[in-house]
Amino acid sequence: MTNPADLIPDKGVAIGHALKGRCPRCGQGRLFTGPLKLGDRCRACGLDYGDFNVGDGPAAFAIFIVGTIIAVGALWLDMAVRPPWWVHALVWVPTLVVLTVLSLHFIKAALLGSEYANQAREGRRSDDG
Ligand SMILES: [Zn+2]
Repeated sequence: MTNPADLIPDKGVAIGHALKGRCPRCGQGRLFTGPLKLGDRCRACGLDYGDFNVGDGPAAFAIFIVGTIIAVGALWLDMAVRPPWWVHALVWVPTLVVLTVLSLHFIKAALLGSEYANQAREGRRSDDG
């Protein structure tokens, strides 16, 4: 009999669980212990999150996405209203912080869910055992 913990859900389901901040395998345990800090393992099914290495991928995606939004928004605001510099600081600094944390959270979750669903692991040589 197959252990339910060994079953890999459909890719969309696994990524959906991760995007909701839940374990990509069972959808029960929490994925994060803080806004950006991954937990060590799932408390419900025991999936070790340390097996997954999302590395700098989320930061690279976040830089492109948030950087584009902030740059286009700042240019648009400046051309439309010509506000003083402090209005830009008041609008864009908090926006940058919030968008960065939110995007890193979701991108990290999506990459971890995708790694789990695709059974991606760090590269190994076939004779490593
Ligand atoms: Zn789990």
